[in-house]
Amino acid sequence: MTDAVGTPPTFRSDVTVELVRSAATDTDVIWAARVSTAGEQSLEAVQQDPEKSKGLINFLMRDRHGTPFEHNSMTFFISAPIFVFREFQRHRAGWSYNEESGRYRELQPVFYVPGAERKLVQQGRPGKYEFHEGTAKQHRTVAESMERAYRHAYTEYQEMLDAGVAREVARAVLPVGLFSSMYATCNARSLMHFLSLRTKDERAAVPSFPQREIEMVAELMEAQWEQLMPLTHAAFNAHGRVAP
Ligand SMILES: Cc1cc2nc3c(=O)[nH]c(=O)nc-3n(C[C@H](O)[C@H](O)[C@H](O)COP(=O)(O)OP(=O)(O)OC[C@H]3O[C@@H](n4cnc5c(N)ncnc54)[C@H](O)[C@@H]3O)c2cc1C
Repeated sequence: MTDAVGTPPTFRSDVTVELVRSAATDTDVIWAARVSTAGEQSLEAVQQDPEKSKGLINFLMRDRHGTPFEHNSMTFFISAPIFVFREFQRHRAGWSYNEESGRYRELQPVFYVPGAERKLVQQGRPGKYEFHEGTAKQHRTVAESMERAYRHAYTEYQEMLDAGVAREVARAVLPVGLFSSMYATCNARSLMHFLSLRTKDERAAVPSFPQREIEMVAELMEAQWEQLMPLTHAAFNAHGRVAP
């Protein structure tokens, strides 16, 4: 089958996560927490002994005093398959989202195909699956089936657009492996909650079993957040990766 006239499909195994703006430092946690005892002098208290700051952040994390971790902001640009966004946008508290529209623009033919390192075989019980390597043949089958289905769906989409059908109607045939893009804004507390559920990490006091593709997004977000708030990130790990 040939693709309808237009951009040829692109197949991706990775995701994009870019920190596009931030006002988020460990200091923001300190001044917010110290208002409890220092009142309007809490901003000056920020410059005090760094070891004390580290101790305070650890105390807040350990005892789950969560609100001082909310006085900061990070905006990420994320490009990932629609099935990842369906999971992502379940995170309601402390998150804002804006996603590209399938009504107002023609969706581009960029589709997800798992890479060679993506484990393909699922064993175990719901909620606690284990994943194992796929064979070369399974990887070939996945790539061929997905690419065939994606090409077919996108050709039908373009046929409808060419026939004058509205984008919001034609998009019904597009699969959840299609890439979408969004801005997601959060604070350190809401990000920690997200990371606790969407990463699998041996330091976690409460293990989670996320789908690998949302975990890929979460790992890239965590790496960028760690650069901004190293003390908070270290305390999060030290206290079992539980959001305070
Ligand atoms: C491994 C895994 C498997 C999953 N499987 C499924 C599934 O099969 N089906 C499915 O539908 N979802 C599934 N989910 C999604 C899950 O149910 C949550 O919607 C998602 O993880 C967001 O979590 P949250 O509600 O804690 O986050 P947020 O919405 O960000 O909320 C953060 C916290 O705020 C509080 N809060 C927010 N809203 C309310 C409220 N209305 N009432 C009281 N407290 C509130 C809670 O303490 C909550 O933990 C899965 C998630 C994971 C990680």
